Amino acid sequence: MITNALTIDVEDWFHPELVRDHVDLAKAEGRVPEAVYLLLNLLNKHRVKATFFILGEVALRYPDLIRQLHREGHELGCHGMSHRMLKDLGEETFRKELLDFRSLTKEILGDVEIKGFRAPTFSLDRESRWALPILRDFGYRYDSSIFPAKIFLNRMYGIKNGPRFPYRISFDDPGREDPSSPLWEFPVALGRLMGVRFPFSGGFYLRATPFSLFKIALKRMNQEGPFNIYLHPWEWDRGTPRVPLSLYSRLVTYYGMNNLLLKLEGLLRAFSFSRMDEVLGKMA
Ligand SMILES: [Zn+2]
Repeated sequence: MITNALTIDVEDWFHPELVRDHVDLAKAEGRVPEAVYLLLNLLNKHRVKATFFILGEVALRYPDLIRQLHREGHELGCHGMSHRMLKDLGEETFRKELLDFRSLTKEILGDVEIKGFRAPTFSLDRESRWALPILRDFGYRYDSSIFPAKIFLNRMYGIKNGPRFPYRISFDDPGREDPSSPLWEFPVALGRLMGVRFPFSGGFYLRATPFSLFKIALKRMNQEGPFNIYLHPWEWDRGTPRVPLSLYSRLVTYYGMNNLLLKLEGLLRAFSFSRMDEVLGKMA
């Protein structure tokens, strides 16, 4: 059975791009640890290790949680410091965030190698490809920030016609393979069903798609290679505060939260999962 990557972007309910501007951040109370403990119970039950892309702001608040994830054998990756999109950060601030993240994780964990990066809001695209050599300079081995399609549902991110399975990423065009590249890319899962390319990838798409369809699409993907699933703690936390948003943002942010962990458990039963560095290690 092929092994796939299970990834969690560890951020709070007020960090997502669609929510942040509608919240009084000074008053917002974090809920990450409660939500992550629920997930850890499930992962322990199924003996699965995952990759947790940690937001620096969350690590600052909950260093014990970060230590626990590491102690329990999960992989820790970087999800930036502030959860701002790459185009909004720019090169200089991005470098500063990676530097801050490095000192912070060193303070919390000591010398633990952080190999993987995931850009907030999958914001690595052709315009922000300047981030790739910076990741290399900081010693990262892989990136997992590319959403390999442009779809009508989603106006925020995506690269048209990107590769659907892990590839060595070209620094000139992140939507292409370059066998000499030092960095791997593990794109978000894009499946095909009845001729249509659709993200069977996690998050909103897992919440909104009927589980049986999701499973069929992932089984098909596994005939070609491994996929990666992503989730956020606020997506399965029943205490996530509901912020008044536009209809579109409300749908994308809150639809289908109640049964997300059940769906995840269904996936854990049907597929084999592991940390992303291990899945990529088998390919390198
Ligand atoms: Zn995020």
